[in-house]
Amino acid sequence: MLVVMQAHASEEQIRAVCQKIESLGYRAHPIPGAERTAIGVTGNQGEVEAGTLEEMAGVQEVIRVTKPYKLVSRDIKEENTVIRFPGTTATIGGTALAIMAGPCAIENREQAGAVAERVARAGAQFFRGGAYKPRTSPYSFQGLGEEGLRILAEIREQFGLRIVTEAIDNESLELVEEYADIIQIGARNMQNFSLLRRAGRARKPVMVKRGMSATLEELLMAAEYVMSEGNYNVILCERGVRTFADHTRNTLDLSIVPAVQRLSHLPIVVDPSHGTGKRNKVTPLSRAAVAVGADGLMVEVHPDPDKALSDGVQSLYPDQFEELMAQVRQIAPVVGRTIPSVDPAIGRLSKAGTSARSLS
Ligand code: PEP
Ligand code: MN
Repeated sequence: MLVVMQAHASEEQIRAVCQKIESLGYRAHPIPGAERTAIGVTGNQGEVEAGTLEEMAGVQEVIRVTKPYKLVSRDIKEENTVIRFPGTTATIGGTALAIMAGPCAIENREQAGAVAERVARAGAQFFRGGAYKPRTSPYSFQGLGEEGLRILAEIREQFGLRIVTEAIDNESLELVEEYADIIQIGARNMQNFSLLRRAGRARKPVMVKRGMSATLEELLMAAEYVMSEGNYNVILCERGVRTFADHTRNTLDLSIVPAVQRLSHLPIVVDPSHGTGKRNKVTPLSRAAVAVGADGLMVEVHPDPDKALSDGVQSLYPDQFEELMAQVRQIAPVVGRTIPSVDPAIGRLSKAGTSARSLS
């Protein structure tokens, strides 16, 4: 159920309605919009008795939400959610495209630093890289764990990049929450409901990647799990689904972008690296993702992909990422988007790999 407050409702009236909802044994989720605040009611098994709430001061109407997802829906918030990062100009979901780039896995300080410098210089504002890797084989590289997180924290310091990294279980989520700016929930965990709930109690934004056989509704329900715990900063990520097609690793389903945007206020970014699994398809699909209206891109980049410990075949060389950015910069304005300009201090770094520590 949804309690829509009047445009001029006071803070006090909003608080009183929330208290009433909680006293009835439900959970209240006040979501401020541009025009008015709507309060989502969750925790009810059946229908909530609307009568008492309807009569309260400042309430415009009480609406029954028939869709299974409520807090992620545009019914509760008409305008797009824009996620902000305190102390920076980076946003996700606004006019500016969010560009996330980096290696599949953090392998060591040198590798991470080499990629970070190049992607920062090319215009990324977010650095991706796994410290905990969910691998198909138990014998494959599983990530550096907390050491990887420490390297990521150094990257943030040195290059002013926001950090996106995956939590694979409740234990790693504790640490990822401490070190990262965005907690990534991977495709294999999209329906790990206890992990989603734990992410919903975290104080950092959460990026939920689409499961490899998940429907649009299942993806939205995964985000609903996170929001139902009180964390409203959720980003969705399309990364391809399994189909009969075998010319790519997965089939990148770009049509989900406008479909999500119709139903939800949450931002959606596209990962063409896992979405295609092939380096030569990453740039064309990045162009397409921007053209279709995605709120950002997540791209794997490695200084020496042939030697990468994971996902080398889909990782771009840094030069290729630069070229991708040049192309995407041309497409963005056509669809009314911008790409933030590169921090001039980063832009001045030499290709030889000047340390950027002095920048921070
Ligand atoms: C990743 O981003 O490195 C990753 C493992 O992605 P996914 O969960 O989409 O497979
Ligand atoms: Mn990967």
